[in-house]
Amino acid sequence: MIRNSGGRVIAFGAHPDDMEIGAGGMIARLVKEGAKVTMAVVSCPSNSNQRVEEARRGAETLGAEFLLINENRECRVEDVPMYELVRRFDHLIGDLKPDLVITHGKTDLHFDHGLVHTATISAMRRAPCDLIAYLSSPEMNAQSRCVGQCFVNITDTMDTKLAAIACHQSQLPKLDLESSKDLARAMGRLSGFQYAEAYEVLRFRI
Ligand SMILES: [Zn+2]
Repeated sequence: MIRNSGGRVIAFGAHPDDMEIGAGGMIARLVKEGAKVTMAVVSCPSNSNQRVEEARRGAETLGAEFLLINENRECRVEDVPMYELVRRFDHLIGDLKPDLVITHGKTDLHFDHGLVHTATISAMRRAPCDLIAYLSSPEMNAQSRCVGQCFVNITDTMDTKLAAIACHQSQLPKLDLESSKDLARAMGRLSGFQYAEAYEVLRFRI
């Protein structure tokens, strides 16, 4: 796990709000501890002007840089051929040389999230860095098989995470801030923290 100041982190999310929901507490914490975090949103399927702006504000709230991989058009992840997605991830990873990459988990039930997971794994083939995975909906996270592998204490950044999720105003009717907090509390009870996020560890170097 990256703890050193000045570390470089890339987080990938299929859609504008995924990273705030699944990894917002950890991203805010890494930034606080001195890491430079880039949040790369792969696609914006609809209402792109508003949703991209919301994602920009969400990243800003967490203290991360924002990047949209499929710029200037509305599309779903599956509209981009896998080789093209991997190529773009390759370039980003090659340019930023991250110490840690955070991506969607394999067991995520959303098809687009699974595609981003696959593209990340492929793009990581030559990148010597740590890799962990999140699930981006609180409901799915609660039933995740990754629970128990890695817990991140987000007690100090819980409020920042909720503020970042709340930036996605167009999605708020679907999002439930209380359930995000409930889940973090439940993960915290499992791991001995007040609030925590659970991750699947895919590559860890010590
Ligand atoms: Zn999503």
